[in-house]
Amino acid sequence: MPVRFLLVEDEKALSAAICQMLKRENFAVDPVYTGTDGFDYAQDPVYDAIILDVMLPGMDGFQVLKKLRQQGIKTPVCMLTARSGLEDRVRGLESGADYYLPKPFQGAELIACLRAITRRKEDAPVMALSFGDVELNQQSASILCTATGQTVKLGGKEYQLMELFMRNPRQILSKETIFDRVWGLDSDADLNSVEVYLSFLRKKLTFIGSGVKIKVSRGMGYSMEENP
Ligand code: CA
Repeated sequence: MPVRFLLVEDEKALSAAICQMLKRENFAVDPVYTGTDGFDYAQDPVYDAIILDVMLPGMDGFQVLKKLRQQGIKTPVCMLTARSGLEDRVRGLESGADYYLPKPFQGAELIACLRAITRRKEDAPVMALSFGDVELNQQSASILCTATGQTVKLGGKEYQLMELFMRNPRQILSKETIFDRVWGLDSDADLNSVEVYLSFLRKKLTFIGSGVKIKVSRGMGYSMEENP
């Protein structure tokens, strides 16, 4: 069965363009044009994710999402809107959106967002990743040092960084590569975030007493290594 999306977007031209693009990627998509229809169709468990516009006739996207989540419908949601203000973004995430994509967006951005929010479902149940004396628990988003038994929770970006290094052990990853993989869809961030969050992660590795280090190779990038 192909991955199937529900598209709730009242601008006919944009809806048609998105449908065309998704079909080219071999996704199935059902377009509806009002918030009320969106809410009704979204009850159907056939959908892998919902692409939901904010400004809609009938019910707006925030209301649709809030009502869906109140009913316990957990289908991942990518919200689309012309408004890119932080306040709306926060409101979108708080009302239960998995991703918030400000218009205008590139087709590739939407595809990446949809792949990211649908992957989560496919990956469950998840396995622990490990490197050296560190285990990354994907369910609790924490790291455990098997040598000391100490554990600590990771923030969202710290978790993504740790996962990236664990999936590429001992490989030097450039700052740009790390940024693309972890912050790629978040246009507000800047390259300095990489160092800031790596320093948080280093502190947490030290805190749990692990021998695993994130090494800097000057001018080249960063790699995860274990002390002998
Ligand atoms: Ca609209």
